Amino acid sequence: MRIVIVGAGIGGLAAALSLHAVGETDIRVYDRVSELRALGVGINLLPHAMRELTELGLADQVLDQGVAPSTLAYFNRFGQPIWSEPRGREAGYRWPQVSVHRGELQLVLADAVRERLGANALQLGHRLVRVEEGADAATAVFATAEGDTSVVADLVVAADGIHSAVRAARHPDEGAPIWNGLTLWRGTARVPAYLDGRTMIMAGDGEQKFVAYPLSAPDADGIARVNFIAERRGVGSETVDWNLAVDAGPIVALFRDWRFDWLDVPAVIAAADELLEYPMVDRDPIPRWTFGRTTLLGDAAHAMYPNGSNGASQAIIDARTLAFHLATASSVDGALSAYEGQRRPATSALVLSNRGQGPERVMVLAHERAPEGFTDIHDVIPADELTGISAGYKRAAGFHPDILDARPSLTPSPR
Ligand SMILES: Cc1cc2nc3c(=O)[nH]c(=O)nc-3n(C[C@H](O)[C@H](O)[C@H](O)COP(=O)(O)OP(=O)(O)OC[C@H]3O[C@@H](n4cnc5c(N)ncnc54)[C@H](O)[C@@H]3O)c2cc1C
Repeated sequence: MRIVIVGAGIGGLAAALSLHAVGETDIRVYDRVSELRALGVGINLLPHAMRELTELGLADQVLDQGVAPSTLAYFNRFGQPIWSEPRGREAGYRWPQVSVHRGELQLVLADAVRERLGANALQLGHRLVRVEEGADAATAVFATAEGDTSVVADLVVAADGIHSAVRAARHPDEGAPIWNGLTLWRGTARVPAYLDGRTMIMAGDGEQKFVAYPLSAPDADGIARVNFIAERRGVGSETVDWNLAVDAGPIVALFRDWRFDWLDVPAVIAAADELLEYPMVDRDPIPRWTFGRTTLLGDAAHAMYPNGSNGASQAIIDARTLAFHLATASSVDGALSAYEGQRRPATSALVLSNRGQGPERVMVLAHERAPEGFTDIHDVIPADELTGISAGYKRAAGFHPDILDARPSLTPSPR
């Protein structure tokens, strides 16, 4: 079967590796960029995604690139603790959570694609213009420096991100991503390690927030590479560009009072190598991903808010699920239908749940009920309520330990 994958992001590359793992060999991944560079900042791979990368034989390479966080801790804007929970193996999962630089992960996956599928499997400088559907095939048309070129395939997987050309053609009335008025400033900085050196923290509330997690272990001087996201409502613009660099000065000023005894937030922002601005956008769930022999995957299918760290993780699970059904269904059409039937409802629910702040709801509640801070969080939010919010999100996202440990593997049994 000839397979064309559009987009060499985390989703497209994971799809190529997953399809290769179930025996497909005629796979080409096309991307519009002429060179893959380590763009972006940190992301988190949750245990459900690390399970899939482990089964693809990539866990060690990915772990080598990042840090497995021990704890996720929420604080209010005064640095007072609201909730904390162990993560990954510390939480009893059979797989770790891994914080990793998005671009470095992309390069690890790209190297694996070239190694396993051949140097030509990755075709850069190909911008998808359109896909034409045939009876049992689809034709992808790309613009290249040498002019347009067409590729006929039995299956086209559109993993072309939040601005997906394929999605726009199939859902022409959809328009731009939807902005909720929050702006994110993302960066990495080499700063003194905080808390146990492996904790992901979130401080603030629904109006202003700071998220940080280490991407490296502390060095001999106690300095670690830390990823952060500063967030504020009512400032910034709607421009959806992952690479928009801005001056750190005004953002440092927004957080000038956020000096906790365990972390100096303005100092971290000021130390950023580069500060990237991005609006908090997502897209509404859509009623259909598959049109003939073309289907959507990753952000093209379900762009969601980064709350809960699910963007890249869900793209990897899409990839593995698609490969599983192609290997086990009796027809390509049946496989696409099973893939969409499984993944579209699950990810649509997650898009909507993230709009409700997901697990970060504990910070919003603490702010609403005690805007000036508190002595004991349990005077403000009872322990049962805190536990229920955390467990409820894990179930919705499919990574509650009980669900993940019980779920059968997505590696098909040999026929
Ligand atoms: C440059 C960049 C930086 C990012 N930085 C962050 C970050 O710091 N934090 C975060 O949480 N998320 C970031 N993301 C998004 C994150 O990678 C995704 O949410 C998640 O990994 C799902 O990935 P995806 O493969 O579905 O989409 P993406 O990672 O967006 O990948 C889509 C790929 O498709 C390619 N593409 C797009 N249109 C076409 C076309 N017409 N023809 C051919 N190729 C096309 C793009 O070049 C890209 O390589 C970034 C995405 C990009 C593209």
